[in-house]
Amino acid sequence: MAQTRVLVTGAGGFIGHHLVTYLKRLGYWVRGVDLKYPEYAPTDADEFEILDLRRWDNCLQATRGIDEVFALAADMGGMGYISANHATILHSNILISTHTLEAARLNGVQRYLYTSSACVYPEYRQTETDIAALKEDDAYPAQPQDAYGWEKLVTERMCTHYYEDYGMETRIVRFHNIFGPLGTWTGGREKAPAAISRKVAMAKLTGGSEIEVWGDGEQTRSFCYIDDCLVGIHKLIRSDYHEPLNLGQDRMVTINELVDIIADIAGIEVSKRHIPGPQGVRGRNSDNTRLREVLGWVPEVSLEDGLRRTYNWIEDEVREKMGMPRKSASLATEVAHSELMAK
Ligand code: NAD
Repeated sequence: MAQTRVLVTGAGGFIGHHLVTYLKRLGYWVRGVDLKYPEYAPTDADEFEILDLRRWDNCLQATRGIDEVFALAADMGGMGYISANHATILHSNILISTHTLEAARLNGVQRYLYTSSACVYPEYRQTETDIAALKEDDAYPAQPQDAYGWEKLVTERMCTHYYEDYGMETRIVRFHNIFGPLGTWTGGREKAPAAISRKVAMAKLTGGSEIEVWGDGEQTRSFCYIDDCLVGIHKLIRSDYHEPLNLGQDRMVTINELVDIIADIAGIEVSKRHIPGPQGVRGRNSDNTRLREVLGWVPEVSLEDGLRRTYNWIEDEVREKMGMPRKSASLATEVAHSELMAK
């Protein structure tokens, strides 16, 4: 049988980079496309093209000769970035999503997986810290908090209609806070696990004892380790399920608890200084009932294990930036993936 040729868009980003490595190990031929090369490790893609996918001609080029697309490219970041760049995000992501999907159709792509987000869920269901976990059907009546979430919701609809009208095999996954090594950890686009790991590592290496936390730190979230995300994405594209599906952990923790777990991993005590800052919704969790039914699987890596691998990598990054030697010779992610592939 001929090797399946897949395209990963956003292959220079956090999840896309890991996904390329994972798909290569599973035996696929992989083309990666992004505005940039991966920042922290070389790509394993067979081909990597620097293309701006807001442009139609680039989307046609990216999808040529491809059997399956994993559409991950998006202008995105943590709460700080998402809540301050509505117009840019909506404009860019609408163009990327619309052009990539239509170009894939014209180029005869058979399967198309779109990466949506828990940000599609309405703000009115996430006003308390101790909220009910979000089921897929809770997305309607729609009222996402940010423009980022509105675009995800519209593109979900577009994928559904491409299946209904054109018979294209589309898949839609809603990620809930994916984290792990080789993700953005500084610069303004980083998300909570990476930002807190960086602050804790800085405190540890400089003898500090206090870190800043946005808001009162009582906002709740669930966090899913990258290896589980990769397994879930692959299971979903191989399934015959066309509706949106949550992919996340269903253990909810407060941001204050997240800080305590990371400080514990670092082996230091920190006090938290609560400062004003964007917090996003008050509480959010993933209901994994449908995930379990459809894929016969749910994420397996514990929050503590995932954070340990992530923290160790970020501490090494901070050490390097401060001119100190790294602690580990090999990347935490290599260890993580070899464990995953051994299963
Ligand atoms: P990321 O920012 O690390 O990766 C996205 C990549 O898309 C970046 O490398 C960026 O350069 C690229 N990109 C942006 N604009 C582009 C353009 N015009 N042309 C080509 N490439 C472009 O983010 P990630 O965490 O790896 O997320 C991957 C996907 O998963 C995104 O669609 C994101 O919205 C979605 N998602 C992620 C999470 C999460 O927790 N990480 C949660 C929900 C949804």
